[in-house]
Amino acid sequence: MSHQVCLLSGDGIGPEITNVVREIIDAAGVKIEWIPCEAGLGSFEKNGDPLPQETLDKIRSTKLALKGPLATASGTGFRSVNVSLRKELQLYANYRPAKSLKGVPAPFENVDLIVVRENTEGLYSGLEHTVVPGVVESLRVITEAGSRRIAEFAFETARSLGRKRVTCIHKANILKLSDGLFLDTCNKVAKDYPDIQYDDCIVDAAAMKMVLNPHQFDVLVMENLFGDILSDLASGLVGGLGVTPSGNLGTDAAVFEAVHGTAPDIAGKNMANPTALLLSATMMLKHMNEAEAAKKIEASLFSVLEEGKTLTGDLKGSASTTDFAEAIIAKLDTVA
Ligand code: NAD
Repeated sequence: MSHQVCLLSGDGIGPEITNVVREIIDAAGVKIEWIPCEAGLGSFEKNGDPLPQETLDKIRSTKLALKGPLATASGTGFRSVNVSLRKELQLYANYRPAKSLKGVPAPFENVDLIVVRENTEGLYSGLEHTVVPGVVESLRVITEAGSRRIAEFAFETARSLGRKRVTCIHKANILKLSDGLFLDTCNKVAKDYPDIQYDDCIVDAAAMKMVLNPHQFDVLVMENLFGDILSDLASGLVGGLGVTPSGNLGTDAAVFEAVHGTAPDIAGKNMANPTALLLSATMMLKHMNEAEAAKKIEASLFSVLEEGKTLTGDLKGSASTTDFAEAIIAKLDTVA
């Protein structure tokens, strides 16, 4: 059966890495009809709109999208398309595994943790206004319903993957109302999952513990901004943003994306590492019940990384994006 998947190539290195990821998936034999969708700076310059309604409609119809990075200007310009996409499609759960990969230099070995981030509420949703000139206000909205659904997602994920423990990360000692509600809701949801251990940790202590001994954590659940920061920290533990995937899941759609940006310094030079997007794509294939192809692609990728002969510049190699992809494709039929 052929699947329909929206493809948002993105800005900067986006088109280069989405192209090779598409080629690798096609070579693995998964039948996908890719639906091209416009978004980001390229779309803004062409259509005057960084997130056209047509793109949202297409994703609502296929319920699936693979997305390259999108450029967002700091301080001025249009609102982040990533934030708008998550809100418009109610992609309430951001799922970010951080797992050590052999052959990828990193400060730790054998890290295997999952950050589950609430994706639609909190300070990160960017609800800001000027009160009077020189004074601005940002709203940090936390709801019981939003906290409940992300806590349930974290526990369901832990259960389905056979993970042992969920830790709620918060700042309820200071933000007694907002994070108090988040923690209280997680505590209640935990009671419905007696098979999974549960505890909580204050966010600043969690950051320190993660860099001292990341092995002490399993699944971490938190609100939006804490999740933004700690999920990047988790990526750093296993080799950086170039190698960590991400899925944004909601009730109506799922969007899988690399977590790094558009890398303007190397865009158009055939130098980008497609690993993060490829791992996001294999996460998508598992979501589409194409687990066998996903495992085959992962085995080829891991073998190329471990061999260390065909690596991109960020991994201290000299291979191009396309060389790296060809090395993965060449192994597809030889790995288990
Ligand atoms: P960045 O992630 O684009 O780049 C940081 C550094 O990492 C650069 O040196 C870059 O060359 C390198 N890098 C990133 N991805 C790489 C890859 N796949 N292979 C090899 N090297 C890689 O971060 P930035 O410079 O802060 O942001 C640039 C733009 O990207 C901004 O407009 C920002 O808003 C946007 N951005 C988008 C997303 C997204 O769409 N999910 C995420 C982060 C940043």
